Amino acid sequence: MRAIDHVIAGQGGSAGGRTASVFDPNTGQVQAEVRLGGSADLDRAVAAAQAAQPAWAATNPQRRARVMFRFKELVERDMDSLAALLSSEHGKVIADSKGDIQRGLEVIEFCCGIPHVLKGEYTQGAGPGIDVYSMRQPIGIGAGITPFNFPAMIPLWMSGVAIATGNAFILKPSERDPSVPVRLAELFREAGLPEGILQVVHGDKEMVDAILDHPAIGAVSFVGSSDIAHYVYRRGVAAGKRVQAMGGAKNHGIVMPDADLDQVVADLAGAAFGSAGERCMALPVVVPVGERTAEALRAKLIPAIDALRVGVSTDAEAHYGPVVTAQHRDRIEQWIQTGVDEGAELVVDGRGFALQGHEQGFFIGPSLFDHVTPTMRAYQEEIFGPVLQIVRAPDFETAVRLPSEHQYGNGVAIFTRNGHAAREFAARVNVGMVGINVPIPVPVAYHTFGGWKRSAFGDTNQHGMEGVKFWTKVKTVTQRWPDGMGAGSGGDLPRGS
Ligand code: NAD
Repeated sequence: MRAIDHVIAGQGGSAGGRTASVFDPNTGQVQAEVRLGGSADLDRAVAAAQAAQPAWAATNPQRRARVMFRFKELVERDMDSLAALLSSEHGKVIADSKGDIQRGLEVIEFCCGIPHVLKGEYTQGAGPGIDVYSMRQPIGIGAGITPFNFPAMIPLWMSGVAIATGNAFILKPSERDPSVPVRLAELFREAGLPEGILQVVHGDKEMVDAILDHPAIGAVSFVGSSDIAHYVYRRGVAAGKRVQAMGGAKNHGIVMPDADLDQVVADLAGAAFGSAGERCMALPVVVPVGERTAEALRAKLIPAIDALRVGVSTDAEAHYGPVVTAQHRDRIEQWIQTGVDEGAELVVDGRGFALQGHEQGFFIGPSLFDHVTPTMRAYQEEIFGPVLQIVRAPDFETAVRLPSEHQYGNGVAIFTRNGHAAREFAARVNVGMVGINVPIPVPVAYHTFGGWKRSAFGDTNQHGMEGVKFWTKVKTVTQRWPDGMGAGSGGDLPRGS
């Protein structure tokens, strides 16, 4: 059985201790055991980080950026093997795994320009003979705790910016698909990153709590489900740390009567069902405005959903692969049952799906609900599976209100040809990321990613300038120099002395 170990000071952990099984969701078989660490492992990682970080912070930013350039080349060199490894533990199809890695690399590209963004502010003559300038300095040691659903992109959101700004970074990836994060740490080493600057500790709640309580860790970035995000935020902040904690989502797509319905249906096939719906920016709720729009949309959606192909991760024709664990598949099926029990109409039922030759894999077919209402728990909670819910809205006002009043506020989209409606919607909706005829409005790397309400705790987003702010502290210097000219200490120094 393959063992997945920590990467602490370039070595693994001590023998023994707890482990967790890592599955291949395509076959349902255990393919590896990952070590689950605790505070002793973390202490070793922190000690290595403390030893390495001052020299890294003192390395000029251009040299730090060169490591980013080299790392990008190495990931591109190994793209195929990384994507295969990612798919084998997560279950998403190879094209989605490459997208996962590519979106992370785009943050690394942003980090290649870190010298530019680290330039501070300067005011000459803020008072008589007084200048003020500010600089951004690293926090010191930061940690990242990441979810299973983007095992390349999210670790790179955090580690790229944290490292480029001069921090040492300790990553605690999801224990469900931990191999790609380990490979990324190895590639960073190959790119010239000093030992101790990026380390990987595996674990579950025990390791997370050790991170949150460790006095030497100054900042924690978390991405995962909302209850745990809120817990991480509270505990980390109580320990005096800077914490950003991204949570779950239930993103809505508003379909106006003038929308291009064929385009909407094509977009929904990807946005609701791609990656088996296991994306925090998936679009699991569609809100047609008006009964005619609802009927026309439903009529087009049913054949489109029937045409979706569920297959193994390596099937190039498959729209999506298995979900991450059998437990998660069962949870999705339970949510479908809850929707039925609450009175929604189950138009397409994806439960009980078995892929021929892969009967033990964690597959689930696509499901479509109609006549879902805001009081249903199946609407209020995140399902995180290939389930699309139609919530009919009589008018634009109701359509704006639905995502605005939902507990989550990660992403939202509106489909329309009416610029005024789109503009009003973007201005008024109480959600952090908005798409206009764009189903999955994930901002590019030099902008920032973050939701509102229970989708994010803390006040800075991931990557872009918000990421730079999160991983650095501002120091502001107010300076005044005595006039030394002609007073024997400056201007009259003998030449050549
Ligand atoms: P999760 O909350 O189960 O796990 C996230 C991390 O927390 C993992 O590293 C895990 O080991 C750790 N963890 C699990 N239980 C814990 C506990 N009791 N105490 C402390 N730490 C614990 O999330 P997941 O299932 O891996 O990922 C899916 C979730 O992440 C979904 O809710 C999804 O919407 C969300 N997500 C959000 C974003 C975003 O940017 N808002 C992005 C991706 C995923």
